[in-house]
Amino acid sequence: MHAVCVYCASNSNVPRSHLDLADAVGAGIAARGWSLVWGGSSAAMMGSVARAARRGGATTVGVIPRGLVALEVADPDADELVVVDTMRERKRGMDERSDAFLALPGGLGTLEELFEVWTSGYLGMHAKPVVVLDPDDHYAGLFEWCRGLAAKGFVNPASLDFLTVTRTVDEALDALRPA
Ligand code: AMP
Repeated sequence: MHAVCVYCASNSNVPRSHLDLADAVGAGIAARGWSLVWGGSSAAMMGSVARAARRGGATTVGVIPRGLVALEVADPDADELVVVDTMRERKRGMDERSDAFLALPGGLGTLEELFEVWTSGYLGMHAKPVVVLDPDDHYAGLFEWCRGLAAKGFVNPASLDFLTVTRTVDEALDALRPA
């Protein structure tokens, strides 16, 4: 079963449109017959993507550190909830269970997760798709800055190409599908 890892915001103060986006992604993953791997929280966008995936019939696998079970409201309805000791184990647990990675709008945690799979991908340590779904330019400033780093010689332009940036849910899912 094709497993897609979704990174997204855990903060509930994000705009409603982003919760709807997470919902549409969860529904889309289910409609394609895939499973969801995520950070195991039932809050905010993280909760929306998981609930929508399950509503559509997808299996959901959450990976969450013990210390965040209460803070991030670990999802009691996850088909599998893997409780680990550290953030590093969380990322490894998510990586190992996933065939492709999708970042939705998020904060520092989402950035941290995205950068790890992006950098390990362009260094050839994995060949799984890494996709960003950015319908409203949440990440525009970041990517502009990264292009500036390439122009100044700090970043190989091919590293930027390893990431697929999309505007719609369907484009993102197409970019995530099995080769
Ligand atoms: P945020 O984008 O800041 O709302 O965070 C999204 C998710 O990333 C939350 O579940 C955070 O706990 C998680 N997160 C934050 N830092 C890390 C990290 N170093 N490794 C793995 N997950 C993290």
